Amino acid sequence: MSGRAARSDELWLRGGTLVTCDPRDRVLEGDVLIRGGRLVALGRVRASRSAQVIDARDRIVLPGLVMAHVHLCQTLMRGMADDLPLLAWLSQRIWPLEAAPDEASLRSSAELGLAELIGAGTTSLLDLGTLHGHDVIFDACVRAGVRVCGGKSLMDTGAGVPKTLRESTRDNLRDAERLERTWNAHPSGRVRYAWIPRFVLSCSEALVRGALERATSSGAVFHTHAAEHAGERKAVRDRFGVDDVALLRRWGARGPRVSFAHGVQLTAREMAQLARDGTQLVSCPSANLKLGSGVARLLALQRAGVNVGLGADGAPCNNNLDPWTEMRHAALLASMTSGPGAVPAHRVLRMATIDGARVLGLADETGSLEVGKLADVVVVRRHGVHSTPAVDPVATLVYATQARDVEHVLVSGRALVAAGALTTLDPERVVREARRQAARLRRRAGI
Ligand SMILES: [Zn+2]
Repeated sequence: MSGRAARSDELWLRGGTLVTCDPRDRVLEGDVLIRGGRLVALGRVRASRSAQVIDARDRIVLPGLVMAHVHLCQTLMRGMADDLPLLAWLSQRIWPLEAAPDEASLRSSAELGLAELIGAGTTSLLDLGTLHGHDVIFDACVRAGVRVCGGKSLMDTGAGVPKTLRESTRDNLRDAERLERTWNAHPSGRVRYAWIPRFVLSCSEALVRGALERATSSGAVFHTHAAEHAGERKAVRDRFGVDDVALLRRWGARGPRVSFAHGVQLTAREMAQLARDGTQLVSCPSANLKLGSGVARLLALQRAGVNVGLGADGAPCNNNLDPWTEMRHAALLASMTSGPGAVPAHRVLRMATIDGARVLGLADETGSLEVGKLADVVVVRRHGVHSTPAVDPVATLVYATQARDVEHVLVSGRALVAAGALTTLDPERVVREARRQAARLRRRAGI
């Protein structure tokens, strides 16, 4: 980045291929002009002489990526819970580890995840916390500069859940209310509280209904895990006599502010119901593969009319938090299950951008390159050895681009990555601290 004059709030991305993800999926050759943190012109632009310039020639300029399901509190658990099915993964490893954090390990876990996510082009995320300490996660997000929608994982019941991961229904809701009040008022304007019961096996009806009531009254997102694994589905049926999506709907979880992560087990009828309700879904292909949960049927979901975002889930079930890997897996799995290109590259890219923004309730502000929106923008190198020749820019992004191609990441026009380097986090310090904190965490959890 070079400044022509001392300071300007005008930023001029010159000469790129603009993949807009706008309603017409336009791809343009030209410039992007940013002023006051918003996109003010695309294509042919007139910048002032004092504008800061980013050279975007031989680059692809796209909307900031939206990671619509991630657990920053779990990043330190990477590699500590490999090769287990969902319920054993939870009870044998994740719950003991989630019961053992302290403030230092939570901050380190969040920073490690944020360094990976932001470095790969993520500008917005939907984060699921643990029961305690979510202030630290929000604080780490604010300092890193990312846009975050998230909240504590509400839990008040469930077999095998450690005592320290349970609170009374009332305490769950009170603490969440405090978090919502505190962080929605953060002056950055980049935090939105989300109401997140973990899943129906660890939440009472009163807790889910209480969360829904509060989400409805404040206009917040309501998010939970559902229809993930066959073993989980059986456990839900054994306990409640119905599937989790039906149960959640009975308790009131439906509509465009509501989203479910995974949806691997959904039947055609359930998909149609979600579409009628406007309830949204977040697919996490790598996590579903690693835990052996199965493959979400993206083509059927999209044909049914369900909006679907993309998520990496947590580091202990992935083990990366890489949006490019998730896009590639989503596209390739759809080709395997429904035929080559059944869910084409431009649809997959929308999942990682504008459709994800819709899940977060932010589609009017981010997720596409459109004049008037916030300047959440990513610039990637187009011609790496692994991506040349870059015949079609959209296919290049989905099938060939890697996190290492990301050169610039802007949130409201502020550079979080500049010339390939993180500006708000020091990766060497983050990794050093993560190694130290992960060892401590592991000792405390007895894993
Ligand atoms: Zn999850």
